[in-house]
Amino acid sequence: MTYMITNQCIGCNRCESVCPNQAITQNNHQYQINPERCNDCVGHYAVPQCWAACPTANGCIPDLTVLPQSLTVSSNDYWENWFTLYDCLVSRLKANHQSEYWQSWFNTYSHYSQKLSQHLQTPTPVGANA
Ligand code: SF4
Ligand code: SF4
Repeated sequence: MTYMITNQCIGCNRCESVCPNQAITQNNHQYQINPERCNDCVGHYAVPQCWAACPTANGCIPDLTVLPQSLTVSSNDYWENWFTLYDCLVSRLKANHQSEYWQSWFNTYSHYSQKLSQHLQTPTPVGANA
């Protein structure tokens, strides 16, 4: 897999400088990722830096049409290929210790979610909005 830059890119230039593999280049204000150089930041960071740095929702996303070089797709069966790719991605996440990242993310999320829930359940005093 690699990452790709979409037409949601606003050209902020954050991704280019954070890529550890110099995989991102700019041509006529259009950013692009060289799939030959992008390795999902494996060996450098637990999270792809272009994706992490991008201020847009979908300006920089995984390109699932480019399979990992380590993945050999030998079957024409759609679901077999899907599970092969899934296993490969999960093993990468584990190798990158992203489970810790997501655990931290979920802990933070649940903390604020509980706070928000408590806040919403707190009765508003009569006349407070008057
Ligand atoms: S995933 Fe990492 S290596 Fe690939 S383009 Fe983004 S920053 Fe560069
Ligand atoms: S960080 Fe996102 S918005 Fe900024 S140049 Fe890169 S892809 Fe475009």
